[in-house]
Amino acid sequence: MIDLRSDTLTRPTAGMRAAMMEAAVGDDVFAEDPTVNAFEAKVAALFGKEAGLMTTTGTMSNLLGVYLLVQPGAEVVCDYRAHIVRAESGGHAVNHGVTTRTWFTSDGIVDVDTVAQVIAPNSGPYQVSTTAVEIENTHNFGGGTIQPYANLVEISAYCRELGLGLHLDGARIWNAHIATGIPLADYGKLFDTVSVCFSKGLGAPVGSMVLSTAENIARARFQRRRLGGGWRQAGVLAAAAEYALDNQLARLADDHEGARRFATAVAANAPWAIDPASVATNIVVVNSGDRTAAEIVDKAKASGVLLSSVGATAVRAVTHLDVTVAEAETAGEIVGEILAG
Ligand SMILES: *Cc1c(COP(=O)(O)O)cnc(C)c1O
Repeated sequence: MIDLRSDTLTRPTAGMRAAMMEAAVGDDVFAEDPTVNAFEAKVAALFGKEAGLMTTTGTMSNLLGVYLLVQPGAEVVCDYRAHIVRAESGGHAVNHGVTTRTWFTSDGIVDVDTVAQVIAPNSGPYQVSTTAVEIENTHNFGGGTIQPYANLVEISAYCRELGLGLHLDGARIWNAHIATGIPLADYGKLFDTVSVCFSKGLGAPVGSMVLSTAENIARARFQRRRLGGGWRQAGVLAAAAEYALDNQLARLADDHEGARRFATAVAANAPWAIDPASVATNIVVVNSGDRTAAEIVDKAKASGVLLSSVGATAVRAVTHLDVTVAEAETAGEIVGEILAG
């Protein structure tokens, strides 16, 4: 089976397991795990932030990042397919009383005019006030697309001018960084809070982080504990995540190459299904045409390729650490034949 359902499927590598074995540990609820503490400081520095807090999941990092910027009853605005509104089980509303409104895009790419049309800051006593904007980079359900840096600079300046918080869902900011060469700190400086994942393309078994000012991260630490997210000898997990960052970041370029080859192979048989030039990182969304995405997913499975459906006619393939470029290309040939057949 060539498994392209998600980049979360990766298993810890031998080097990563060795790093976990050797990690020095302590009780992280007492802030005494040396491996966690050093790793939080290291990632914060990479993004030019004062502090970081490691969490179990990107969902929890997003939950805490938005919590820092939005009071109960106020709103965060974001893309209509943002992970925070589509894929986090309503956690921002259930846990923190956060309300949301969304803007529409075809591919997840947003500009300042789109943000300006949706926000409603200082709406008075009867209406909901926007207090934060959220942006996803890369954009998962938009097809792994990269936000143009100039757009982010404009949106950041605009939010600062209006006193709005700006949160980055950077679950895959690593992919944007590798694809564009833009330093992580250049992304970090535009946002008030940043969430990153080590368990996607980087290949760690567990772990995300929320980054911000020291004051904000102290609040996030308290809230993480309240949500049941305090953990003890988490250094074994921080060691895995740090190994991923040190050893498995540059190779994301291979995932991007695999995704391009997959898309090119699909287009060779079914040119209407995907424009290979639209593939920006490690996610490929293929149009299933007049058949349902579910049918294509089933047929591909019978031929040894696992895909997921992300819409009625949208089939998603994600390349990762456990799939070679050659396997991705083979999978593209198989899927192209199914679509053409
Ligand atoms: C995967 C993902 C997350 C976090 O997911 P978890 O499964 O909670 O770690 C957040 N945002 C985006 C865009 C993602 O793709």
